Amino acid sequence: MPYTITIDRSLCAGYGDCVGLAPDVFHQDGDHISVVIDPEGAADEAILDAARACPVDAITLVDEHGDQDWP
Ligand code: SF4
Repeated sequence: MPYTITIDRSLCAGYGDCVGLAPDVFHQDGDHISVVIDPEGAADEAILDAARACPVDAITLVDEHGDQDWP
């Protein structure tokens, strides 16, 4: 099941780690802030890896049960 992915734009500093790890899920907008383009663009494990790679924990993942899996 796809995660519900939320990006805190006030935290995202545009490092791009998430885009590098899951380019079909995350994209950097014109301000270099990450946006979700397809929450099903990668396997859950790859999305979790991308969220864990964010140096400022700007990415929140909630699973299909409503449980927050990250951070
Ligand atoms: S890794 Fe984090 S700080 Fe970097 S672009 Fe993605 S959400 Fe933003």
